[in-house]
Amino acid sequence: MSSIAETIHKLHTELPPDVTLVAVSKFHPVAAVVEAYRAGQRVFGESRPQELLSKVLALRESASASGNPESYSDIRWHFIGHLQTNKLKMVLPYVSMVESVDSLHLLQAIDRWGSGNGKTTDVLLEYHIASEETKQGFSADEIREILFSGTQYSHVRIRGLMGMATFTDNESVIREDFSRLVTLRDRLLPEAGRHPNLHGGFGQLSFGMTHDYKIAVSMGADIVRIGTLIFGERNY
Ligand SMILES: *Cc1c(COP(=O)(O)O)cnc(C)c1O
Repeated sequence: MSSIAETIHKLHTELPPDVTLVAVSKFHPVAAVVEAYRAGQRVFGESRPQELLSKVLALRESASASGNPESYSDIRWHFIGHLQTNKLKMVLPYVSMVESVDSLHLLQAIDRWGSGNGKTTDVLLEYHIASEETKQGFSADEIREILFSGTQYSHVRIRGLMGMATFTDNESVIREDFSRLVTLRDRLLPEAGRHPNLHGGFGQLSFGMTHDYKIAVSMGADIVRIGTLIFGERNY
């Protein structure tokens, strides 16, 4: 068994059944996606539009080749990187979720693209929980403003929040960062159903990567995004 398959099996055994594992395949070849798929993985994460698109198309081509019993049509792609509005058409037709909505401009553009193309996209709002200024994301106030604003998005469903902890080995710093996500979600939940953009389907939290996913799961993550542990180091 390949180590990709072994790790997938291990994670599927280890993670609680209601936690969604996103296998982050960015910078790894499509063959790595196929290996993980054969081990039962169905949700994959990509962070660059062109790379997502070329993997989607390569898998389609391979699925239509004669003799291949796999269609890959049950793969669900999550987009997890910074998304420029001029790249939406490379991403939105293919993804089941955009986890990394980090500006109002992007949210509005996804909604507009959706009404023009007849697709409603599930999104998470990225909450800036790390102490590094460089990381993307909204403040808690900006998230409230979006959720409580009267503007109704007809082709975007805000399903929850995504966050990335400070890059550190200090577990208590990571826990503090993650607890900001959990606290904000828990404060918003009682409001769900009372605002146009904060509907009953709100509440999912995506947090935890290779080095901190165990902490994330222990703190109630609904979605974890794991790349390096599954696919190995990335060659940038
Ligand atoms: C790359 C990436 C991951 C995966 O990180 P690993 O440390 O390789 O598990 C998770 N989330 C986001 C947003 C990423 O960009």
